[in-house]
Amino acid sequence: MGVFCHYINKEYIFSAREVVKDIKGAFRSMLTTATWMGSAREEALRKVDNMLMLVGYPDLLKNETSLEEYHSSLPKMNEQTHFENMMALSRWHSLRSLARLRKPVVRDGWARGPVETNAFYSTLQNSIIIPVAVLQPPIFRREPLTALNYGALGVVIGHEITHGFDNSGRERDHEGNLHEWWTAETDAEYASRSRCFADQYEAFDVSQILSPYERDGAEVKSPGLLRGDALVSVRLGECAAESSGRGWKFLGVCVSPVGVGGSSWVCESPVGVAWKFVDV
Ligand SMILES: [Zn+2]
Repeated sequence: MGVFCHYINKEYIFSAREVVKDIKGAFRSMLTTATWMGSAREEALRKVDNMLMLVGYPDLLKNETSLEEYHSSLPKMNEQTHFENMMALSRWHSLRSLARLRKPVVRDGWARGPVETNAFYSTLQNSIIIPVAVLQPPIFRREPLTALNYGALGVVIGHEITHGFDNSGRERDHEGNLHEWWTAETDAEYASRSRCFADQYEAFDVSQILSPYERDGAEVKSPGLLRGDALVSVRLGECAAESSGRGWKFLGVCVSPVGVGGSSWVCESPVGVAWKFVDV
């Protein structure tokens, strides 16, 4: 077993799975009541039902043999040659990626590591990854602060679920395959409804979102950073995920046994919005 596993509080993972389940349930119930989805609703429901929720760490870490096998081809490290070490590791990673080319997608594979303090949606796998490293304050806390968990972790989960339906995620079906499952009518509705996210984020001014250190007397180097259709359309998925994620957290807490409102810490401020523009 990986040493890593000895330092993990498994109750955290169990509690986080509950939050994930409730936020996913809130998203699903929204889909059932959305009036504009038409016949696309069926595949949308299938997609959310089939979305894998990978929380904590991969099973690989619990299995000594698999762990040894995974690292068997790892290049030898030399403490005197850092650059060469990094080049060798990079080559190892690239070869592992290339070996997966044209092979069936492993849907429950972890595209990112469990020690990253972030969360991810994988379009190819139609899966969400909530690494164990993110299950710590201010995103996740011990009981009895469950409502805070729904607020902070909830917004992260809602964000990632929304990526499955953002402007690029929606091009793929419930198994992650490129597949046109939208009708002409719902496609037009989607384009028109998603415009509000672009409008909202275009309205932010760079001078409002720089840190106080940068704002006071510093020259604003990119006054057009948040303006312009080209940039906003590139970031439309992030804008939609960020705004929607906050909605699902409130709905999630309503369907949870906690039954009280949550509190969010992330991206409620213009600074948070700015962060989202520099980090996908
Ligand atoms: Zn995102």
